[in-house]
Amino acid sequence: MSNKDDARRKARELIQQFGIKSLPVNVERIARSLGVKVEYAPFDDELSGMAFIKDGVPAIGINSLHHPNRQRFTMAHELAHIVLHPTELKKAVHVDKGSLRRDRVSATGTDMLEIEANAFAAELLMPEELLSAALDERLDLEDPQVLEKLANKFRVSMTALQHRLHI
Ligand SMILES: [Zn+2]
Repeated sequence: MSNKDDARRKARELIQQFGIKSLPVNVERIARSLGVKVEYAPFDDELSGMAFIKDGVPAIGINSLHHPNRQRFTMAHELAHIVLHPTELKKAVHVDKGSLRRDRVSATGTDMLEIEANAFAAELLMPEELLSAALDERLDLEDPQVLEKLANKFRVSMTALQHRLHI
């Protein structure tokens, strides 16, 4: 099992644990229920969010100036670091800059953490079961309007949805 699969499995466990059956997934409720402090602040545009553990309390900071769908993905991504990488967070504040990085050919250690966090976030916001339920066979996924409607349902960006669907 790859680390990515492991990250997805952790996200699915949370979906189960919180009995998520409807969309959009309330990622903030999940984070707060797990004892995570969630704060919003108008950061520089290049900074999407951060995660850290201070005095044993996990916390997430979100750039309040970004599009709400992007904020949701950032929150899920930062929550991933808290769930998957607590040891790293105890050592240093994790800051995510720029657009969320996608899988790369040459994965360094840091990239690996990002890849895992993105896999977790995609699964948390677009859970397998709810996604396959929403995917009707008749849906034309090459039609941008169809994709947009689907993305709205999950409150994710088109890019996040396309990545999740491998299209
Ligand atoms: Zn990150």
